[in-house]
Amino acid sequence: MNITIIGTGFVGAVSGAVYAKKGHQITGLDIDQNKIDSLKKDKVPFYEPNLEKLLKSQQKAGRLTFTNSYKEAIPDADLVIVAVGTPSLKSGAVNLTYIKQACKNLAPFLKNQAIVAIKSTVPPGIFQELYPLIEKHAKNKFYLAALPEFLKEGTAVDDTLYPDRVVIGADEPKVFKLLEELYLPYQAPIVKVNPETAQMIKYASNAYLATRITFINQIADLCEINGANIEDIIKGIGFDKRIGHHYWYPGLGYGGSCFPKDVKELAAYAKQVKRHKNLIVVIDKLNDARIPRLISSWETLVKGWAGKTVATLGLSFKPQTNDTRHAPASIIIPRLLKKGAKVKGYDPQARWSPPEKTAQFQQLATVEQAVKSADIIMILVEWPEIVKFDFTKTKLKKQQYFIDTRNRFQSAKLKKAGYIYQGIGNT
Ligand code: NAD
Repeated sequence: MNITIIGTGFVGAVSGAVYAKKGHQITGLDIDQNKIDSLKKDKVPFYEPNLEKLLKSQQKAGRLTFTNSYKEAIPDADLVIVAVGTPSLKSGAVNLTYIKQACKNLAPFLKNQAIVAIKSTVPPGIFQELYPLIEKHAKNKFYLAALPEFLKEGTAVDDTLYPDRVVIGADEPKVFKLLEELYLPYQAPIVKVNPETAQMIKYASNAYLATRITFINQIADLCEINGANIEDIIKGIGFDKRIGHHYWYPGLGYGGSCFPKDVKELAAYAKQVKRHKNLIVVIDKLNDARIPRLISSWETLVKGWAGKTVATLGLSFKPQTNDTRHAPASIIIPRLLKKGAKVKGYDPQARWSPPEKTAQFQQLATVEQAVKSADIIMILVEWPEIVKFDFTKTKLKKQQYFIDTRNRFQSAKLKKAGYIYQGIGNT
């Protein structure tokens, strides 16, 4: 099948390389010339394990090419997949500028009966705007489908090669047939629904995972008052098969490029349809409030941030990615700097600097360098390089604080070494 993928970010680049491996002819299209130049040279412009090797092999085999030209990329495509960004506006509603621009640009070059599949996360009902927009500029008959994406950064290649499920949202049998043909070799369950349901499945999946994170944080907050231990609670509740031990992350709340924006977009949608008390609206507010509340409670613990040096370990939003969008570090560090702290950051892959340039922030190359002479060590991301580091061997100050927001360290061991330890949901 001839497939063009518009947007060669995390989703587009990974999908393109994987579909090429399955034998399809793929063209990746992006308006970012630097990204295209880099991909053409087999260089992935972001960190995603296993992608570079796959990209190289598929370009070498001639099944994967990149361009910035719609005129070049669209006319031969049986299927055009749109995977451009859909960030949130200040109001929380989705910013559809990129997707509308892509739809407008692709329309005049569509071949007869081509399928345009929207992989970007978009609110239900949006096809009522996108269909007429494409139709206005198209010369041929086309079909519109929803093809939501569920990959996770850090394991994106495997998630695409072995998806848990494929969701296809369409109204026409011809569209289901072609898209099923694309996904049959993956041997994953295929859910065939109307476009609105497909779009809602995507939002509901992320909103549910965000709800689990928020739920366990709410329980953790209570544990800090009553002396219970959140990790033992997870062990205890998890044996109930309806609950399970997986996907419980007490900590700083959910971050990253998807959950915060998807929850905000769903909350904005709920408010727009006058469901102001919808659970998702509450989840969004609780998550926004979480880091400020923790910073203020730790401020009491460390007796003020002013003049203190804080080593913040982990600048990405989770391990195995260099994506810093809505990463805890990007919310915490500017607040610490504003309160007069000096911050030394470390991350094995991500590069980050505060929006306002300041000599008070420095990114160091190793954990050792970052923690040297720090008053407070703050674990933000459980990268192996951080979790495996032996903090009991570093030279301690008289009052040395260890804030473990991932609950990955043995508190007794650190306390014995002389640290004042603070985890999440334990005392
Ligand atoms: P990204 O920001 O990494 O990449 C988007 C790309 O689209 C950029 O390279 C940008 O230059 C390009 N672009 C923007 N406008 C364009 C246009 N008019 N024509 C051509 N290219 C254009 O975004 P992403 O993380 O890959 O996410 C893409 C979509 O997939 C979003 O809707 C996101 O919510 C959804 N999604 C993302 C993930 C994830 O983990 N990143 C997972 C599932 C779904």
